[in-house]
Amino acid sequence: SLFGEARDGVVISRFGMHVDVEDADGSQHRCNIRRTIRSLVTGDRVVWRPGQEGSAVVKGIVEAVHERTSVLTRPDFYDGVKPIAANINQIVIVSAILPELSLNIIDRYLIASETLEVEPLLVLNKTDLLDDEGRAFVDEQMEIYRRIGYRVLMVSSHHKRGLEELETALTGRVSIFAGQSGVGKSSLLNALLGLEVGAGEILTNDVSDVSGLGQHTTTAARLYHFPNGGDVIDSPGVREFGLWHLEPEQITQGFVEFREYLGHCKFRDCKHDNDPGCAIREAVEKGEIATARFDSYHRILDSMSDMQLKTRRNF
Ligand code: GDP
Ligand code: ZN
Repeated sequence: SLFGEARDGVVISRFGMHVDVEDADGSQHRCNIRRTIRSLVTGDRVVWRPGQEGSAVVKGIVEAVHERTSVLTRPDFYDGVKPIAANINQIVIVSAILPELSLNIIDRYLIASETLEVEPLLVLNKTDLLDDEGRAFVDEQMEIYRRIGYRVLMVSSHHKRGLEELETALTGRVSIFAGQSGVGKSSLLNALLGLEVGAGEILTNDVSDVSGLGQHTTTAARLYHFPNGGDVIDSPGVREFGLWHLEPEQITQGFVEFREYLGHCKFRDCKHDNDPGCAIREAVEKGEIATARFDSYHRILDSMSDMQLKTRRNF
């Protein structure tokens, strides 16, 4: 045979008709993809065969894909949605006081995490910029999420504060880092991966897309290993994944602390706004649901029609 024995591997990156597959021994092999495989993305667990040395076939071949535990997608003009990464089991939602602390954006990523059924971890970066007052403010905001049951870590990539706790949370998981531009995702990833800022591939913003349709249409996601365990899949598209269009039902279900009240509104078609007998609004008035989250819920619902237009431009 032109190929060696079948073995298990993980897709590190895909480009066009090829993938780089990592073997259990850590070695990487460029592979072709068997024609019967309909979808193959970074993070996929595969069965592959290495090309035999000295034979005419240099590349290996991916023969089968194991079932995915999760799949991250992005909207696609032609296909509706396109998968960009598989088998992630943690979404690290990075925020920071600079450029701005936006609970609304955190909430959007949380909805996306809940929709995907992938566990989120909130990371507030740039704590070095906070004085006592700033710290109290940020603590209060993060307390909203802690009370709901989300994990929150406070870190500074510049001062290397809180990074050990973050490393621990990354161990044994396949994570992605999401969050607004400028909050420090690259800085954190470079610090955690042990890359020099400026030297790492993580920093490379691949603007090779000459079509002007947006860089995430061409930049492939890539899987990296943290030195102390755990993996991360990263690309510009991955970082923005949660900001696509969401259905109203996903938005409502995405606010997990609303769930216990949802069946208790007076009217079945309750919009949870000014409707009489709304159990959600009553919970807000009793202080059981945070006002910020309630406001955020309505802002996200209201913005979705705009959002759809905006994301369409990004295709
Ligand atoms: P990204 O767009 O989320 O990847 O953000 P970057 O990693 O590119 O960081 C954006 C800016 O924030 C850069 O100027 C970084 O130097 C700065 N930055 C990142 N982490 C920290 C931090 O912990 N503290 C402070 N003060 N600045 C930071
Ligand atoms: Zn209601």
